[in-house]
Amino acid sequence: MYTQEPLAYDYDALMPVIDAETVEIHHDRHHAAYTTNLNNAVGKAGLAERPIEELLSDLDSIEDPAVRTAVRNNGGGFYNHNLYFSILSPKPAHEASGKLAARIREQFGTEADLKDALIKAALGQFGSGWAWLSANKEGELFVSATANQDNPLMEGKGLVPIFTLDVWEHAYYLKYKNLRGEYVKAFFDIVDWKKVSELYDRVCG
Ligand code: MN
Repeated sequence: MYTQEPLAYDYDALMPVIDAETVEIHHDRHHAAYTTNLNNAVGKAGLAERPIEELLSDLDSIEDPAVRTAVRNNGGGFYNHNLYFSILSPKPAHEASGKLAARIREQFGTEADLKDALIKAALGQFGSGWAWLSANKEGELFVSATANQDNPLMEGKGLVPIFTLDVWEHAYYLKYKNLRGEYVKAFFDIVDWKKVSELYDRVCG
């Protein structure tokens, strides 16, 4: 059984950036449904339970195309949302720390430059999808975007996501309506870069 991570804050804790109703529906319905559907797909197919990162990095090992698609979509939804909700905080650290801070300076110049690159990736994603900051074991950082519930793990290149931004309409539409850009810019006010820095250390520490 794959288990959805509980929220570490109240539904209204991310206001005014994300309203309480959006957090509740997003976590308790959308994320919960991906989790249930992932468990159903894995259970029906009799797949051995593997760590989700390992499973998503090796989708080609699932022979049945229908099961592979179900695991890709729902396993992606399960994993992506666990990461998304975990890097948000009502009391976020606004700057990266330690090794991540140094690496951002080295690759992007300033943290504002990295943020601009992430905003560009998020706004450049047509339709539903995600923007990402990922790292490999060598500590190299990568900015990207994916469609649907895909993520960088699925590329099989050893990239592990440490930051994500959900640009599906369900993530912002109640409050922001069609103004994705307003949501994307405001989103950074609740990103906890202490958490992102910890995730980075786990990938390449
Ligand atoms: Mn979502």
